[in-house]
Amino acid sequence: MKFIETRGNDGIKPKEVEFSYALLNPIASFGGLFVPKFLPKLEADFFQKAKNKSYKEITKEILQKFKIDIDEKTIDEAISLYDKFDDGKNPVPLRKIEEDLYINELYHGPTRAFKDMALQPFGHILSDLAKKQKQNYLILAATSGDTGPAVLDTFSNKDNIKVACMYPDGGTSDVQRLQMVTQSGKNLQVLGIVGNFDDAQNTLKSLLASPTFKEELQKQNTKVSAANSVNFGRIIFQIIYHIYGYISLSKEQKTDEFYEIIPSGNFGNALGAYYAKKMGLPIKKILIASNINNILTDFINSGVYDLRGRVLLKTTSPAMDILISSNVERVLFDKFGASRCKELIENLKQNKFYKLSKDELEKLREDFDAVYCDDDFAKKTIKKYANRGYTMDPHTATTLSAYESLKKEKLPCVACSTAEWTKFAPTMLNAIKNDNVSYSDEEALSEFSKTLNLHIPKNISELFDKKVLHEKIVNKKDIEEEILTFIRG
Ligand SMILES: *Cc1c(COP(=O)(O)O)cnc(C)c1O
Repeated sequence: MKFIETRGNDGIKPKEVEFSYALLNPIASFGGLFVPKFLPKLEADFFQKAKNKSYKEITKEILQKFKIDIDEKTIDEAISLYDKFDDGKNPVPLRKIEEDLYINELYHGPTRAFKDMALQPFGHILSDLAKKQKQNYLILAATSGDTGPAVLDTFSNKDNIKVACMYPDGGTSDVQRLQMVTQSGKNLQVLGIVGNFDDAQNTLKSLLASPTFKEELQKQNTKVSAANSVNFGRIIFQIIYHIYGYISLSKEQKTDEFYEIIPSGNFGNALGAYYAKKMGLPIKKILIASNINNILTDFINSGVYDLRGRVLLKTTSPAMDILISSNVERVLFDKFGASRCKELIENLKQNKFYKLSKDELEKLREDFDAVYCDDDFAKKTIKKYANRGYTMDPHTATTLSAYESLKKEKLPCVACSTAEWTKFAPTMLNAIKNDNVSYSDEEALSEFSKTLNLHIPKNISELFDKKVLHEKIVNKKDIEEEILTFIRG
């Protein structure tokens, strides 16, 4: 399988690349992204046959369809990392919470957010490639709270890899911050940034583009790569759990089509669903749920992606507090081609907005619909379901807004649950007590779990006694030097 570029080719970079190349060098010509040249199709009897297969078997089968240039042994090792999840045979249990609403729980991995689904196998593949090429890699990660812990966990003490992870200071929960700053591994650097997630992501992008940064890294025999969902190496693993979710659904009830609901931020999860749909997963529509940072809602409803006058608002679903959703670009490319995609993205850069034509909007809406909710809605939803015995985190709670308002046909819905409640305990407690007290994560975890008689997994409960290993908070302008010092050291 070859990979091509969302903004076309600049005549310098290779026109088509293999999977391993796209994984190690995720930024394509003109700052674009890599996408598969075509998507494999699921054959007619795929779902029938898949019913008796495990998650790992299905993952392997789908990866084989992509014909990626990774040897079988490495793929097997990567997939075996799902054994670190609560149930290695079924890392993504599907839970029914309404007659026609199922929750695809994607958070049963080591860092309790769905980022582990892709980052666990991705980390192994990347380190393995680096080792075989006898090349050192620096992984730059910008996180709004869940990517960071998952990236650090997967790369901790891996050969030929160093990780520099940036998070917005004050923009994550205590648990998320502790997961990062207590993470051991001599190859890891964790930096708090003065600013929000978009600042962190922009810093990452400008580092990737900085010639002086590259030059200095070259002296250290180090290349740079990224573990954000701009990296297709992550997206490929995010196609699979949507497919598996439907396989689980069809064991519960017979249905030809279903709605897939996704709490979206950088649009990686949604893109995985879009690709799965194109491969033959019978999704009626992908319903995008947002919080009050509702730029995607506006885009999918009006065709205008508009940053003008927008500021990032802090919500109780911080992983969705994003204005520039990087993976929308891959959908633009897929639907409208490279030159139009490049034009739209350049408009966004220069004029802070772009506008689809009426036809283009119609095409977008064939696959997507979108709605948003505020924190109050999310809290009421958390409380409603907690009272009925189901605990969902504030991100997952946003999907109920889509379930309630966007379902046009009588079909079952599968909503992705992207994090365990334990990562956002103060909000959970506020929700069930209907108060606005600012609890610490530690006291909220304790009280919420006692009230609802829930278990707190060890990887969360032990965080509070762990030693803090990374204390630095830095300004954007000092990032480059900080990281270079770490690389030289
Ligand atoms: C990352 C994340 C999201 C957003 O996922 P995208 O793929 O970036 O759209 C939603 N919820 C949680 C809990 C996350 O960690």
